[in-house]
Amino acid sequence: MGGTFDPVHYGHLRAADEAHAAFGLSEVIFVPTGQPPHKAGEMVSSAEDRYMMTVLATVDCPYFSVSRLEIDKTGKSYTIDTLKQLKSMPEYFDTEFYFITGLDAVLDIVSWKNPEEIMSLCKFVAVSRHGYTRSKMDELPEDLRSAIIPLEIPLLAISSTGLRERVRKERSIRFLVPPSVEHFIRKNSLYKDI
Ligand code: NAP
Repeated sequence: MGGTFDPVHYGHLRAADEAHAAFGLSEVIFVPTGQPPHKAGEMVSSAEDRYMMTVLATVDCPYFSVSRLEIDKTGKSYTIDTLKQLKSMPEYFDTEFYFITGLDAVLDIVSWKNPEEIMSLCKFVAVSRHGYTRSKMDELPEDLRSAIIPLEIPLLAISSTGLRERVRKERSIRFLVPPSVEHFIRKNSLYKDI
């Protein structure tokens, strides 16, 4: 499950849980991005804060875990490199991987590093909110579109961008993120001046 998770919210958690059930996954590893290649110049919370929030949000679920693979890496994080690194670990030699992320993030996949190779190393799942998938998928080139598995998640109407905006405007984020994540955001004064 790849994402910036700034902050992680119930939409991400529902998406991970739906994918877990839909594809019979044994575990879902959340991989917060380190230095996203496509976000140079954008304000993103520190990798440690995003990692901590993801750990707090997932700690209750026995089949969720969080990886430091990308945040411990210096330089840019490319999905292809992360996948290869995971696949080279002895505990994952015989594992079939599904890469799960948001459909909006996937729409510019042609500009990612080695998109065809990514598709050859995993099943690629693009999650989106209900009623939104078909028109967006049509924007992708045919060869990549046919390799992407769409998964609609009603709760994805929650967005990290909307949450940061709510915090900045001092509006409540209760019931949109787990309480521990809300407390972490308040305690560390995140998103005050975004
Ligand atoms: P993003 O541009 O921050 O997000 C775009 C959209 O997708 C947002 O609406 C976002 O919603 C949603 N989204 C992102 N991750 C999601 C998830 N796990 N579940 C549900 N919705 C999600 O995207 P990003 O987080 O930077 O990138 C997503 C993944 O693609 C990461 O793993 C990243 O490393 C990878 N990626 C790789 C390359 C490359 O290899 N060159 C390039 C771009 C992205 P929220 O804001 O609410 O999360």
